[in-house]
Amino acid sequence: MIQLIRGVKDILPGDAELWQYLEHQASSLFEDFGFKNIRIPIMERTELFSRSIGEQTDIVEKEMYTFADRGGDMITLRPEATASIVRSYIQHRMYAVEPVQKLYTVGPMFRRERPQKGRYRQFYQIDAEVFGVASPLMDSQIIFMLMTLFSRLKVTDCIARLNSLGCPECRPAFKSALSAFLAARQASLCEDCQRRSDKNPLRVLDCKVPACRQAMDGAPSIADSLCPECRRHFDAVMQHLTLMGIPFEIDKNLVRGLDYYTRTAFEIQTTLLGAQSAVAGGGRYDGLVKMLGGPDTPAIGFAIGMDRLAEIVALHLGDFSRRPQLFIAALGSACQTLAFEWVNRLNTEGIYAEMDMADRGLKSQMKQADRQGAAHVAIIGDSEMAAGQVLIRDMATREQTAVPLETFTEYIVTRFDGLVKSRISDDFVKCSQARRANPEE
Ligand code: AMP
Repeated sequence: MIQLIRGVKDILPGDAELWQYLEHQASSLFEDFGFKNIRIPIMERTELFSRSIGEQTDIVEKEMYTFADRGGDMITLRPEATASIVRSYIQHRMYAVEPVQKLYTVGPMFRRERPQKGRYRQFYQIDAEVFGVASPLMDSQIIFMLMTLFSRLKVTDCIARLNSLGCPECRPAFKSALSAFLAARQASLCEDCQRRSDKNPLRVLDCKVPACRQAMDGAPSIADSLCPECRRHFDAVMQHLTLMGIPFEIDKNLVRGLDYYTRTAFEIQTTLLGAQSAVAGGGRYDGLVKMLGGPDTPAIGFAIGMDRLAEIVALHLGDFSRRPQLFIAALGSACQTLAFEWVNRLNTEGIYAEMDMADRGLKSQMKQADRQGAAHVAIIGDSEMAAGQVLIRDMATREQTAVPLETFTEYIVTRFDGLVKSRISDDFVKCSQARRANPEE
């Protein structure tokens, strides 16, 4: 038997409904904040990622899935979405129509990390990016939007961790101060950090190796080196978050694993999975659009880790699988033909109805209905045909209702409309009602 490769997973029915729910909750909220959906390829030229994410980052150094295409071009499976969205913004000259663009996308990312709990080699992100707004209002607004999403999903113990990474004005001085600090501590650093302490010293700040953490005690803080503009920006972000009641804390070691960030960097953390873990991370990257060949455009974005979010939400939302509202148990070919017509009619009316298609007896059809978790069962055999009515049984209360054959489907549509019991979310109900009201959508 051929099995999955290491570090990837199937999202099976039962779980996939939860993923659809998360995607739906995120996209509807983001769209209310003015974001538009964009779909980008999962493959790009390797150069796009190495230039934007940075040559000396973990992702580019050791985690990218890169291969030579048949023509010799180097291609990489995207390890994140920001670079591709920036490429698209520039390539399609979106700025020429309207410099302010708010875009979001959902999809798989690929990083060859060591597989462990909650870390996959193909994982999924909900990613949102805003171009053309330099104001700290936007930094606080997207953190507010993220927190709103988590609170709607009942992920309640969230906190935003914030830092400012400065700008090309103030960061170089901080980098050299940090390098000097690290030079005196080379021997205590892990191998990766020894290599980085010169070229990319910021990365040493968030190294998780205990020896490095200890060595970093007393390291200079970027917050103390910010230029007045960056300081004002950072203070304004914190002020707006406070006004909006968003819980946050400053983490002077938060640098994030990508080189393109400037000013605000943040992560949303929760303890719901045991240890502290980040469900989302993002930041401002005011220089990236220009660096990749576009006009000088400020930008900010974030990515939510869907795998982690799904794990957390599953803890309290339970089973998401959709169960039939009605199972029609038909006996004999005439009844089966009628049931077939009804099931198809009901399915097109937005009702989840099922039937047996294998000529099973009543007992085994009832078992099938039970296994599928049908909320109601209608039995139709020769005697029901002769009497001109069907019995509908509510499987929870055992109550039975007799309904005339001619008006059966109308009865079911009226009875179940707006009462879509098998779907757990109100949004799903609203969604299917809207679909019924606008069938062409
Ligand atoms: P990043 O793009 O590294 O800033 O990550 C943003 C979010 O994506 C993180 O907070 C994680 O929740 C999630 N994430 C990143 N890498 C992985 C991975 N290998 N497996 C699962 N989730 C991941």
